[in-house]
Amino acid sequence: MSESPYNATITGKILITPDLMILRIRTDEPRKEFKAGQYTSIGLLASESRSPNSVMPLEQLPPDELIIRPYSIASAKHETQDFEFYISQVKSGQLTPRLFNLSLGRRIWLDTKILGIFTLNQTPKGKNIVMVATGTGLAPYISFLRSHINEHRDIKMAVLHGAGYPWDLGYYSELTFLDSIFQNFYYFPTLIKANDSWTGLRGYIQEHLENNLLEKVAGIPIDPEKTHFYLCGNPKMVASVSEFLSKFNYKKHTSKKPGSLHIEEY
Ligand SMILES: Cc1cc2nc3c(=O)[nH]c(=O)nc-3n(C[C@H](O)[C@H](O)[C@H](O)COP(=O)(O)OP(=O)(O)OC[C@H]3O[C@@H](n4cnc5c(N)ncnc54)[C@H](O)[C@@H]3O)c2cc1C
Repeated sequence: MSESPYNATITGKILITPDLMILRIRTDEPRKEFKAGQYTSIGLLASESRSPNSVMPLEQLPPDELIIRPYSIASAKHETQDFEFYISQVKSGQLTPRLFNLSLGRRIWLDTKILGIFTLNQTPKGKNIVMVATGTGLAPYISFLRSHINEHRDIKMAVLHGAGYPWDLGYYSELTFLDSIFQNFYYFPTLIKANDSWTGLRGYIQEHLENNLLEKVAGIPIDPEKTHFYLCGNPKMVASVSEFLSKFNYKKHTSKKPGSLHIEEY
């Protein structure tokens, strides 16, 4: 029998909806300290069972294949052995239906490498930080806020989170709490499918940006010299918000050319 590739254990699983969860994983060995916003890879063998509410994909994988996908880390940067992830189930996907079927105590593979240049703490000092996400694109911002919110009292920070229904707003309590205790932090959840009981913002993120919500409510100017934007999640949101910001002369940040617009697409 071949040796198990697994090197970590499931220590927490919070189902927010049947297709959305917070997953906590403890590695057998600690990883190196990472930067808030980075990602690592999770793996499971194809022989693991799929969740009952998934759909069989067309491609059948050999049982000994390790299915590996990247996920942004939601936990704080100093937590080098206990990792948190915010994951949505792609019903016909290979890895996520197997992840959703796991219970506490089950073994799993977590990469030893932690990668990515979508790191929020490299924003030059004194610049406001606007974090825009759809769905699970919120994960890197949770890591950033847990790691750094206390060090940034001199700037303004905002999270704009787009989702469908109120129950799709993972981390709602944590972000509402931060909004209530930090005067320089603003949380703007916006929903596109909520019924009348939702009294918060509605519609797409870009509509709120066009209506100048940030300046009006938080006093945050849309100006690349003063405010850095981070976009994470759905490629359509990333494209439309990037197009809007380009009118204000925002340039995409790359490892070779610094800019005020930082992008991670899922
Ligand atoms: C840097 C990085 C960080 C990421 N972080 C996260 C994270 O924090 N949380 C998270 O949930 N995901 C994250 N992802 C996406 C993740 O890596 C997987 O692509 C996703 O979980 C689907 O994996 P799967 O094996 O279940 O589906 P696959 O077998 O890879 O895909 C099956 C099919 O579904 C389509 N598909 C893939 N993703 C989606 C989607 N999100 N919605 C609808 N259809 C899709 C594919 O095009 C494909 O046709 C990240 C991706 C990148 C590149």
